[in-house]
Amino acid sequence: MAQYQRLDTKLIHAGEPEPRIAGAVAMPIFQSAMFEYGGEAEYHDITYIRLNNTPNHLVLQKKLAALENAEAALVAGSGMAAITTALLTVLSAGDHLLAQSCLYGGTHDFVTRDLKTFGISYDFIEGNCPDTWAAKLKPNTKAIYVETMSNPLLEVPDLEAVVKFAREHNLVSLIDNTFASPVNFRPPEHGFDLSLHSATKYLNGHSDIVAGVVIGRAHLVERVKHRLDHLGGSLDPHACFLLHRGVKTLGVRVRFQNQSALALAQFLASHPKVVRVNYPGLESHPQHQRARRLFDGFGGMLSFELDGGVRAAERFMKNVRLPICAPSLGGVETLVTRPATTSHSGMSPEDRKRLGITDSLIRVSVGIEAADDLLADFEQALARV
Ligand code: PLP
Repeated sequence: MAQYQRLDTKLIHAGEPEPRIAGAVAMPIFQSAMFEYGGEAEYHDITYIRLNNTPNHLVLQKKLAALENAEAALVAGSGMAAITTALLTVLSAGDHLLAQSCLYGGTHDFVTRDLKTFGISYDFIEGNCPDTWAAKLKPNTKAIYVETMSNPLLEVPDLEAVVKFAREHNLVSLIDNTFASPVNFRPPEHGFDLSLHSATKYLNGHSDIVAGVVIGRAHLVERVKHRLDHLGGSLDPHACFLLHRGVKTLGVRVRFQNQSALALAQFLASHPKVVRVNYPGLESHPQHQRARRLFDGFGGMLSFELDGGVRAAERFMKNVRLPICAPSLGGVETLVTRPATTSHSGMSPEDRKRLGITDSLIRVSVGIEAADDLLADFEQALARV
């Protein structure tokens, strides 16, 4: 199989079948639940959709592993299936997890509400205070979990310290890399054991499927696969096809979104009605230097606060014409949302307050519309707040 150096070439060619199947340029969909027995010795090797090993899965998984220069990848039925299955693979009853305090709402709920029913305990850590982590360590701590950029405040934890700490204390390091995408950050290159994605977002990019990915060390991905085989969170071949098609344009989409998000963040930061902008590409961002050092781009996500609180935020959301008011992110269309009412609505108001997620915070997922049109639309919407 040919080896490619550059991400953009890998997006198109890595993992593709050689020779092409019947000459097909696009990977055909193998919509068959099961395949003729071929002498496989192991249950997990029998070709079956739930075992995530049909031709569509295998080709896609090879490509996804190549994108982060990792040994292996596994697709799953959703980002949450990838995250929960990975956690339930590296943690067993009696184990303890260290997790960053500000997490995507679904992950936060799983950690705080569900883990205890499996006999697994946790402590939250502040991603930017590595000196405080050791105090939270227990003899049964087995893993550490962070997000590349936190949702929705875009904090960048001390990622290098996470890897170092995990190695020193023999922990499995897991990172949700959804917000950055492999274009901007590739966790396995920095020593993370497992990189997780909601492929619903940037990897697919077209807001038309729900999918997840686990990327990383082959022996760990294999263990996650076996757990997923039993839990059943597989990805259908048609969704594999759509993700495969979507991911080919990841490079051009995300680099465009990086540029537009920076322009929008700069515009908002200079606007008199905006009191705060969270975007790691701004020099005013507390972790800007780290983001500059580690990332190839600052991403397409930002959040901001208006003078005037919830009423001003609601008026802005009503006034804005181009963006769609919808949860989720990472697609080609710009979306705006108030996390307190969507992604983080499951969190208690006290927890949101403690983390700095105010009711008036507006989160933007920048799409691939022309940046000038977006800026003009935000300007008119702010003028009428
Ligand atoms: N991780 C992050 C950062 C997310 O934003 C989301 C969803 O919004 C998820 C994981 C969960 O992904 P999914 O909805 O594909 O299960």
